[in-house]
Amino acid sequence: MPGHARSISTRLTLITVLVVGALVGWAWPQALALWRTGGLVTGWMGSGLLLVSLLLMVREPWLARSLGGLEPMYRWHHLLGVWAYVVVLAHPLAFAASDWSESPAMAWAMLSPWQQGWPVWLGWASLLCMMAGLMVALWPKLRYAIWRQFHHLLSLSVLLGAAHLVALGLDGVLLVAPLLIIGFLLWRVIRADHGLGAQPYVVQRVKHLSPTTVELSLQPLAASATKPLSAAPGQFVLAAFFAGPKYQGCGEYHPYTISSLGDEGRLGLGIKALGDCTRQLQSIRSGAAVRVQGPFGDFFAGGSGPSLWLAGGIGITPFIAALRNGPLVDPVHLIYLHREGAAAPYTQELNELAAQQPMLQLQVVDTGDALPDLSQLLPAASDLTGLGCYLCGPSAMVDAAVQLLHQRGVGAPRIHFERFDFR
Ligand SMILES: Cc1cc2nc3c(=O)[nH]c(=O)nc-3n(C[C@H](O)[C@H](O)[C@H](O)COP(=O)(O)OP(=O)(O)OC[C@H]3O[C@@H](n4cnc5c(N)ncnc54)[C@H](O)[C@@H]3O)c2cc1C
Repeated sequence: MPGHARSISTRLTLITVLVVGALVGWAWPQALALWRTGGLVTGWMGSGLLLVSLLLMVREPWLARSLGGLEPMYRWHHLLGVWAYVVVLAHPLAFAASDWSESPAMAWAMLSPWQQGWPVWLGWASLLCMMAGLMVALWPKLRYAIWRQFHHLLSLSVLLGAAHLVALGLDGVLLVAPLLIIGFLLWRVIRADHGLGAQPYVVQRVKHLSPTTVELSLQPLAASATKPLSAAPGQFVLAAFFAGPKYQGCGEYHPYTISSLGDEGRLGLGIKALGDCTRQLQSIRSGAAVRVQGPFGDFFAGGSGPSLWLAGGIGITPFIAALRNGPLVDPVHLIYLHREGAAAPYTQELNELAAQQPMLQLQVVDTGDALPDLSQLLPAASDLTGLGCYLCGPSAMVDAAVQLLHQRGVGAPRIHFERFDFR
């Protein structure tokens, strides 16, 4: 694991241990039997894990900057969510175990909502929603739109879980946990999903780069009171497209890498039709309303020096942004893999840039529908010495390239990648 990733993991582990430790410490019961103590402790451990998982779902550029970016935040959000479920599942079972030695009927009575009333109804409802939501969340092949709908079950589970805690009659410091849980959930829904944390932009210009890719120039709305976004090449934004002349956007926030940076917050986004929303975007016209949140990510934070850039399909966008930003100061070997024949987006501009920029060695490869043979395309081990390697595109390409680069002696600290499909 590279040093940067290790320090992010340490930071996130520390936050988790502190939050879970504080909750369990406050709630630690005095003089209870072992299983009952276990029941209480697992309940609070689960709440602590859920609390941190929800904090990592809050989508704010400043938070993402301090926690290593959205990608590790979402990865940890999923991991802690699964652990919260496992621990919370042990919570009622430990209570039942405490009464099992008396009789199975007493153990059932402890778990039965008919006998225990509202707090237990809420607890079970929360657990069932969590189970259903997690089963779907961990199903990577599911269509994104369906996955997203089912993911909302987890929000319902969290609300029911918080209601379970309140119905138990908590007071004092322990009431902070459900309040924070609801607070983080609302923060995410209002600021990110409903766009309160995003800035108003308008589509100024639309350029069709190929039958499946469009490049949009976005301009901040002059009337906006907020400062325009300030971004660097390699960063991405979350953008939602709304109504405009003869156009009705899908209004969902999706991540797109900035393909060009203009004055006063102007941005370019190159968008390929990869699903429902992005297919609809191919027919957008100038004048459509957009909201933009960000910037996120630090793809080019690896430093300067000679580099190898590998782009797969629309994964060319961060490299286009870097090349448009000014002449290269260090040698770069850019390999652009695509399967769109003569219609591949950006090829003409890349050829022009290579003619103007002596530092750029350009290799455009039309792979057709076959998988490219990266072992032939990537430089030999001796040519990789001292190069920083930047990879952007589909996960399968990134994984294969990382493996090959390792085999050719490139260590993890010199490999930087951006995946276009984290959820
Ligand atoms: C960091 C990053 C940078 C990206 N940059 C670009 C870019 O410059 N140009 C470009 O064309 N595409 C880019 N993408 C991919 C783009 O976000 C998806 O193609 C788009 O969200 C698809 O939405 P859809 O509704 O059309 O398709 P759907 O059918 O909903 O989804 C198709 C696939 O896109 C991915 N996806 C959908 N919605 C999201 C979301 N909200 N967050 C993450 N992934 C999602 C999923 O893997 C899904 O399987 C980027 C993705 C990421 C994560």
